[in-house]
Amino acid sequence: MHNLHDYLEKAKEENIAIGHFNISNIEALWAIYEAARDLKQPVIIGVSEGERKFVGIKQAASLVQSIRNEFDYPIFINADHTHDVNGVKECIDAGFDSVMIDGSKLSFDENVAMTKEVVEYAHHIAQEESRTVLVEAELGYIGSSSALLDKIPEGAGEDKTTPEIAKKFTEETEVDIFAPSVGNIHGVVKSGNPHIDASLVGEIASASDAYLVLHGGSGITDEDLRAGIEAGISIVHVNTEIRKAFRDGLEESLERNDSVAPYKYMDVPRQKVYDVVYNKIKLFAGL
Ligand SMILES: [Zn+2]
Repeated sequence: MHNLHDYLEKAKEENIAIGHFNISNIEALWAIYEAARDLKQPVIIGVSEGERKFVGIKQAASLVQSIRNEFDYPIFINADHTHDVNGVKECIDAGFDSVMIDGSKLSFDENVAMTKEVVEYAHHIAQEESRTVLVEAELGYIGSSSALLDKIPEGAGEDKTTPEIAKKFTEETEVDIFAPSVGNIHGVVKSGNPHIDASLVGEIASASDAYLVLHGGSGITDEDLRAGIEAGISIVHVNTEIRKAFRDGLEESLERNDSVAPYKYMDVPRQKVYDVVYNKIKLFAGL
């Protein structure tokens, strides 16, 4: 079986993107795996700091690895938005395939220094243990809440990443995966999310060797997502839309089901998450 690096290379060559979906529980994990399996596409499971605290770091890694091993399936786990080096190291040590060190709120130099430290550690461990550990970093603040928003958070998406700064940052840090600010923001804005600047994505893709990831894939139109992927995005993060699907499904389920058995009322939220993920993967893979 191939590693995440191989699948990213393939995605880049074919102008498609791998979906990255966050989980807080096993219901969503099964739903995401089943949607990916039904479309025969690799998939990345994300756990942010808050989600990891809830699920458990080693437990999240073990759950994903157990599916990977039992079904011989390309499902990977990423430590999403991690704000300190120790937090990242803990996930690398637990066996994560990739980690995101988020210094997007720091100065350029501080972000470079922190990212470099993580890259050195990750690549050292990868070599020691003969496995792949990819590192992702982000430049430019795009908001921080995967929620339904009344308006765009203050300052989010304002300092778009230029191709020059992307080149400088990725060369200095040697980071594997890079998250630029190209009009995307975290969360779903009720009045509509901003547009993705696909031509800027294309310029950044030409200027940098790192794989490009688009955060805030919820609330963006299918046309904008496809344009961004065509221009060079290799991973798209989706969280808010599946959180909403889970909650809507749970409310619907509790309303019509009196059972106290979780596996009887959790089937609707699981199915709702499956539906969202299925449609996103289909779009990302150009199917
Ligand atoms: Zn994100």
